[in-house]
Amino acid sequence: MTRIAFATDIHRDARIFPWLEAVARKFDLVAVGGDIDFPYLGLRNYKLNFALYRLRPNAFQDGILRFAAREPGRRVVVVQGNHDNPDPRACNGTALEIAGLAVGGVGGSLPTGAGFPFELEEGGYRSVLQRLGRVDILVVHQPPYDTRCDLAYTGSHAGSKAVREYVEREAPTLVLTGHIHESPGVDRIGGTTVLNPGPFFKGHYGVADLAEGGVTARVVDLSASARP
Ligand SMILES: [Zn+2]
Repeated sequence: MTRIAFATDIHRDARIFPWLEAVARKFDLVAVGGDIDFPYLGLRNYKLNFALYRLRPNAFQDGILRFAAREPGRRVVVVQGNHDNPDPRACNGTALEIAGLAVGGVGGSLPTGAGFPFELEEGGYRSVLQRLGRVDILVVHQPPYDTRCDLAYTGSHAGSKAVREYVEREAPTLVLTGHIHESPGVDRIGGTTVLNPGPFFKGHYGVADLAEGGVTARVVDLSASARP
């Protein structure tokens, strides 16, 4: 069995560092799903979010990328979100082999209208995913369209159709995603399990077990992280 821990939408929550130390010892693969650096005080405070971000841009993601690089066995894969300045050390459009599995990362989000540093159109997703080819596990900040994991507060599905097409075509075993804070959950597209654990900064992460008999995935409260 392969055990996977996944945290996304960290938004500068410093609990990520002890969490990484704890899970890196216990899981075969650890994934970070983006929106690492941008402090998030809610939709009504975007100007303040930006002001705080400019005080220490890239500080958190630098710490996480350095942790991933020194982790023995390179079990930690880091994907960025729309709020993160693109960094070549992150996994974007490439695949790594971890625990005998092909793990691919795709960062950024669809355009939000707010001009964040890492956004791309559906066509951009199509090219990146085409280049990536088939993987066993896809870590993608922007969820695939039309599941329980991409339902925005507006009541509409906010996922990417290009990501969904990729999942239908290539049938990865597992998709780890985030971005839509208000839509944590587990769903399936054909034989693929999709997991959005909800934001780490609100105290959630995800765990998935890959076994011969299939995949089990669930959302875990951070308060349980001492015994992941
Ligand atoms: Zn995002």
